[in-house]
Amino acid sequence: MIKENLNRVRDEIAEKCLKIGRNPEEITLIAVSKTYGFESVLEAKSCGQRDFGENWAQELVEKFDLVPEDVSWHFIGHLQTNKVKYVVPRAEFIHSVDSLKLAEEIAKTAQKQNKSQKILLEIKTSEEATKHGLTSEKEIEDIAGFCTENQNINLAGLMTMAPFTGDEKKIRQSFSQLRDLKEKLNKNGFSLNELSMGMTSDFELALEEGSTMLRIGTAIFGTRNYLQ
Ligand SMILES: *Cc1c(COP(=O)(O)O)cnc(C)c1O
Repeated sequence: MIKENLNRVRDEIAEKCLKIGRNPEEITLIAVSKTYGFESVLEAKSCGQRDFGENWAQELVEKFDLVPEDVSWHFIGHLQTNKVKYVVPRAEFIHSVDSLKLAEEIAKTAQKQNKSQKILLEIKTSEEATKHGLTSEKEIEDIAGFCTENQNINLAGLMTMAPFTGDEKKIRQSFSQLRDLKEKLNKNGFSLNELSMGMTSDFELALEEGSTMLRIGTAIFGTRNYLQ
């Protein structure tokens, strides 16, 4: 099942890219494996999948040891500072940095690991109270500034989650807001490349708005059962 799903998702991405004149090779497909066992990760890996997304530190720790090293882990969930020490040694990217305090903790931990941790800033682009992320441009520039000066952090881009709605206009707005913010930051001297946006239900819109990293779970692994 995972194989068919992955192939279908890849085809849909390629087709969409063709339609809008983008190169599918500049898109990273992150298979979001949260709540699924390491066997599912191995199955996807055997179909050539390299990038996997996890939301919880403990789950990342458990799967990390059971999956061979040649995969890239993306931490995409809300991260508390006391969990940073578990995530930094394992994640290639942390997508969910939403405070200066968290960035500082990541930098400190990365220094001990002799690593430059790739991160993205999570931006709140919708009104939904359940969504995390930065909203103040001043705060965003402050954190970006800190990252630029710190050799143990590599600020790769921005991440957002669109609102949970059927209203296509609102979803698109959320994605275009993220792209505009990236362009603005780059005009102000930063050099961000990645836009992490788009999930199972909205990845085609995200591609239209410039996404470079898609985080797709359900379409690859099936409906999640949080109680398992
Ligand atoms: C779970 C999750 C996803 C994947 O969502 P699907 O709808 O299953 O594709 C993407 N991003 C984040 C931050 C998530 O928590």
